[in-house]
Amino acid sequence: MTDYQKLFEQDRAHFMHPSTHAHDHASGALKGRIIKGASGIRIQDHEGRELIDAFAGLYCVNIGYGRTEVAEAIYKQAKELAYYHTYVGHSTEAIIELSARIIDWAPQGMKKVYYGMSGSDANETQIKLVRYYNNVLGRPAKKKIISRQRGYHGSGIMTGSLTGLASFHQHFDLPHADIKHAACPHFYKAPAGMDEAAFVQHCAEDLERLILAEGPETVAAFIGEPVMGTGGIIVPPKGYWQAIQAVLAKYDILLIADEVVCAFGRLGTPMGSQMFGMQPDLITTAKGLTSAYAPLSAVIVGEKVWNVIEEASSRDGAMGHGWTYSGHPICAAAALANLDILEKENIAANAADVGAYLNQQLRQTFEGHPLVGEVRGVGMLAALEFMADREARTPFDAALKVGPRVSAACLERGMIARAMPHGDILGFAPPLVLNKAEADQVVGIAKAAVDAVASEVL
Ligand code: PMP
Repeated sequence: MTDYQKLFEQDRAHFMHPSTHAHDHASGALKGRIIKGASGIRIQDHEGRELIDAFAGLYCVNIGYGRTEVAEAIYKQAKELAYYHTYVGHSTEAIIELSARIIDWAPQGMKKVYYGMSGSDANETQIKLVRYYNNVLGRPAKKKIISRQRGYHGSGIMTGSLTGLASFHQHFDLPHADIKHAACPHFYKAPAGMDEAAFVQHCAEDLERLILAEGPETVAAFIGEPVMGTGGIIVPPKGYWQAIQAVLAKYDILLIADEVVCAFGRLGTPMGSQMFGMQPDLITTAKGLTSAYAPLSAVIVGEKVWNVIEEASSRDGAMGHGWTYSGHPICAAAALANLDILEKENIAANAADVGAYLNQQLRQTFEGHPLVGEVRGVGMLAALEFMADREARTPFDAALKVGPRVSAACLERGMIARAMPHGDILGFAPPLVLNKAEADQVVGIAKAAVDAVASEVL
């Protein structure tokens, strides 16, 4: 048995993987991959194979792999002070500096930053803040949260409920009764004959109908990703966020921007909110905050919500909400080093420039391709959606697994591009340091992979 086989056997014996087919992994049918190292946009596996990571891990390694400055910042912080808690006003230099830096990246009107370890726990905090806000304002009935079909917001009990994908609900008795789902803003799937402006109106009306059906006095917040990620890289149509915000304002409903994917340069802007003119009350970030060099999430609290929290504490005392690792100094040090790199190297501008090039090359290569229904994306996010009949917009039979097959064909050719969990969609979210020559490689490999699968299924 080689070293690799031994490791693989041990992995199968005791490691319970997330989002993994339990039987296929246990039986060995699912090969998986053991990753040993990484640098720039490439990862190396244990067998010595090098792959282009066109999904930046799980769209989180914004600065690319192997930046030793971040490793050194982590080491320095760990030597000086590996941990202290942040309860009852305790703090560290790293987290003090980071909080100000995050506010600088955020849109106008943001006041405070609360820390967690993951996007899921950050959204759990959001749900608690929304409940607290309305309860202390004397509106205990106002606690439902509306997310969207195909939105992704985590995989806890409440955050998994927010996630609008059936596989996150099945066998978990979800969604929770306080969570409702509005329409997904995917214009490509709009009713036949509807133009973009009419579709925006349709989405806003769908939301308003849902609010009125539930009773506006019971609806507390709306949560959405500026650009939907895991639901299939869905860029909202022009004017969508303005139309949604108008409905929310009418019924005094808070807006939570889930920026876990979009923040820290992914779209070419500091956060997605700035790209779409969103004015959220609360913002969720994680992933790109540290480029995944350490686990850290940040809930950014706007002035409106903060003022209510501050006032309530004079009457009710400290809010009963905290994690042992809130504001962990090692993660804060990683975030500061990551933000230094993002800022000094103008990486958001590169994401705008090379992302536009990548999207243009993908459109040029795949628009009109017999397997491809839609090519979409913005900044350093892109997707191909495969259709059995591109004119009639008829999807493939799910059993054919066209999306996973194209993803596997990319892998055979040395590139990771992700088969998204809903429909036959291949997603691209490379590290934001991608250059144009590398973008050409990504498109070239995707073309060969799509052609290979097309020759099998068409
Ligand atoms: N929100 C969004 C928009 C996400 O994409 C994700 C993760 N893909 C999450 C929340 C949850 O983050 P985590 O996996 O770190 O819990």
